[in-house]
Amino acid sequence: VQGLAGTRVAVLGLGRSGLVAARALAAGGAVPLCWDDNPAAREKAEGEGFACVDLKRAGFEGIARLIVSPGIPHLYPDPNPVVAAALEAGVPVDNDIGLFFQSFATRDWDGFDISPRVVAVTGSNGKSTTSALIHHILEQVGRPCQLAGNIGRGVLDLDPAIDGEVVVLELSSYQTDLARSLTPDVAVFTNLSPDHLDRHHGLGGYFAAKRRLFAEGGPDRAVIGVDEAEGRFLAGQLTEGPTDDRVIRISVAQKLTGPGWQVFARKGFLSEYRKGKQVGSIDLRGVAGLPGAHNHQNACAAYAACRTLGLAPKVIEAAFHSFGGLPHRSQTIAEKDGVRFVNDSKATNVDSAAKALAAFSNIRWICGGLEKEGGLGGLAGATGGVRKAYVIGREAAGFAMQLDVEAEVCGDMATAVARAVAEAEAGDVVLLAPAAASFDQYDSFERRGDDFAAQVAKQLG
Ligand code: ADP
Repeated sequence: VQGLAGTRVAVLGLGRSGLVAARALAAGGAVPLCWDDNPAAREKAEGEGFACVDLKRAGFEGIARLIVSPGIPHLYPDPNPVVAAALEAGVPVDNDIGLFFQSFATRDWDGFDISPRVVAVTGSNGKSTTSALIHHILEQVGRPCQLAGNIGRGVLDLDPAIDGEVVVLELSSYQTDLARSLTPDVAVFTNLSPDHLDRHHGLGGYFAAKRRLFAEGGPDRAVIGVDEAEGRFLAGQLTEGPTDDRVIRISVAQKLTGPGWQVFARKGFLSEYRKGKQVGSIDLRGVAGLPGAHNHQNACAAYAACRTLGLAPKVIEAAFHSFGGLPHRSQTIAEKDGVRFVNDSKATNVDSAAKALAAFSNIRWICGGLEKEGGLGGLAGATGGVRKAYVIGREAAGFAMQLDVEAEVCGDMATAVARAVAEAEAGDVVLLAPAAASFDQYDSFERRGDDFAAQVAKQLG
């Protein structure tokens, strides 16, 4: 980290990213003063030679900045007391992402442009898939690249950049909210859905957090999902007129026909238009790693981002076909006798389960678990492709009763998978898309997905 040499910088939260920040600050000549309410975390930091100071008591005099770990509330619903003390003392609050942009994304360092190109991916849904897909495409063409942020490594933990490298950053709204600097070369905004609203005081706050990405002089290029009014607004704000191609608009809801630069997917075909001419197209129907309209949106975002980096449509298409998908997200884990097994354990709510259901037909649907607030009403109309549901979870009977399809109460994963396998015919898809949290039976959605994969392997022998 550059620019803070000789100053005292407070670091709040000593998990992995906090420790990495402390190390990076120290390496840049700053003096980190660390704190975590958990004594074990402090002990670890002290073991590395960092000074731990109760920042609530010691106050913020002589401290240049406060670096806050993800997950620590900095404003909503109430600031953490240490953050509140810093704000009162007028000390700027920042995070590792802000430090990253201040230090590494500086161009013309010593007169040479050796800094990496940074592609930052934000939005409500599809961030991980889009980031991983961009990274995969770059890897396939042999371009040096690193994946960081919410997915991959901590930003301050990356290897030193080499010439021509691309850093792909997945950023959550918490991260964009806090970072003092956000200056990616290419900014991607996938979509906006009304989640995390409590923390961001309504849609306006949430959207403002995302918009910050495009402030401060702005990125060279922006890829923006325009299927919501907010995205259309943002795209308009960033362009001088309809022919301005600093923004690539993407859509899975409509054919985009403007004179600018746009990428859209309709009926399984991705199309790219620039200045009124079609310059690229990809048939997405056979791309196994990206099933469903929601993944076609991720495909459009990744395609557009890679086009801004100068990649040709044909090489992007080839890389789509070798993309295996992310674990637990519409991931095909096995195929036998014409039956496909798909793990979408990440579908922990009604919305994402509906997206998964829309991506397939002839579905033997494994669902159930800890029901989220709001009930299962949102699934009505989404179950057209379902042949039968196999319901798991402690409250499986109650869950099954609310479904508008034939449902068998199975209780546990082993029974559900065995029953689905016994009844599946060639052409069917056995899909785990629970529409519920996992905590009644598992530690996490990952464990639930792993159990599904294990039971499938057992059944298929
Ligand atoms: P994020 O990183 O934003 O949480 P992921 O790529 O991890 O997104 O996908 C999480 C879940 O959200 C997936 O399992 C899928 O059900 C759903 N999803 C993925 N992409 C999209 C999208 N573009 N729009 C809506 N939902 C999506």
